[in-house]
Amino acid sequence: MTTSFTEPAASPLLHLLGQGVDLASERGVECTGELPAPSDPDLVERARAARAALGDSVFVLGHHYQRDEVIDFADVTGDSFKLAREAAARPDAEYIIFCGVHFMAESADILTTDAQQVILPDLAAGCSMADMARINQVEDAWDALVEAGVAEQTVPVTYMNSSAAIKAFTGRHGGTVCTSSNAQVALRWAFDQVGGADGEGKVLFLPDQHLGRNTAVLQLGIPLDQCVVFDPRRPGGGLTPQELRDARMILWRGHCSVHGRFSAQNVTDVRAAVPGVNVLVHPECKHEVVTAADYVGSTEYIVRQLEQSEPGSAWAIGTELNLVRRLARRFSDRQVHYLDSTVCFCSTMNRIDLPHLVWTMESLVAGRVPNRIEVDADDARWARVALDQMLALPGV
Ligand code: SF4
Repeated sequence: MTTSFTEPAASPLLHLLGQGVDLASERGVECTGELPAPSDPDLVERARAARAALGDSVFVLGHHYQRDEVIDFADVTGDSFKLAREAAARPDAEYIIFCGVHFMAESADILTTDAQQVILPDLAAGCSMADMARINQVEDAWDALVEAGVAEQTVPVTYMNSSAAIKAFTGRHGGTVCTSSNAQVALRWAFDQVGGADGEGKVLFLPDQHLGRNTAVLQLGIPLDQCVVFDPRRPGGGLTPQELRDARMILWRGHCSVHGRFSAQNVTDVRAAVPGVNVLVHPECKHEVVTAADYVGSTEYIVRQLEQSEPGSAWAIGTELNLVRRLARRFSDRQVHYLDSTVCFCSTMNRIDLPHLVWTMESLVAGRVPNRIEVDADDARWARVALDQMLALPGV
């Protein structure tokens, strides 16, 4: 059976992310180079020629949410964690071109050698979730935990989708980084540092409240009412010292602008429209979406589920559209649906397009290194501590 994928309607939010110039944020700055026109009919040929000229000196990483025209030139594709490891495993590649977003390129810079240079083809490719936790806000939050007398029994855990400064904060305070694939193991480890999941200890989870809540409640069995949300825009996070003392999970008020759009109504609607459909969502979705779904997991898990599925089976997938489109094409003998009827691409991911990739590679051929991502040495050192802690977790 062959089915055709129905494109969701455009969302009015589509163009709201990734605009403007903000040096202090993940969105960075606009590319100042001379970009080839997107309409240039020779773009693909120029990309091939530049890629061939650069040979093994360059390694191109492509995140699952990147556009097809970019993925076509990636040496490897994957989620942020897999790509950072792939970068670290290529010490001979002088240049790592990271087709993803800013925090991913930072992690690659931390994990690669000093002789390697990590490049982000468009410096405005940031992550709105990572921007929701600034280092000064997180330090203020820690002060609130100190004042409430709970900092000593709290371990910070930060999602990979955070700035290097936040990862460094986590390393300095004895915590770990996690990904959507290993959040359960990371949380168990963190609670073990302060008496176990049934004890009095706490985790400060940054910056995605949904991944933190879904993992704590559904995988560690922590009651929902022991999860509180720390809002950095409100004094004391909007929580009383007693609420901080009573909580087990202190969730940062951050979310993914893409996954946060899916609703429980989307799940109800697709079940009504497609009998027998399997609903498969990312753990960055809201708790009510994850509990209504059949399967939940990282992008790597989502790809694996489709690979292992039966021909003819029906799937409604709640993650970024570029990946869902590719899965629909690759598994054309399954019914693949986008969970929402409208769409919000990750527009910051989408900023990396073929003109930026061609510009980046042609600049390297000409001997210029554009858009290098370099993490401050002290942050890199402590962020590395938190990343190494994650790599040392069992099963990672
Ligand atoms: S999909 Fe969400 S978490 Fe991922 S880069 Fe985009 S905004 Fe950030």
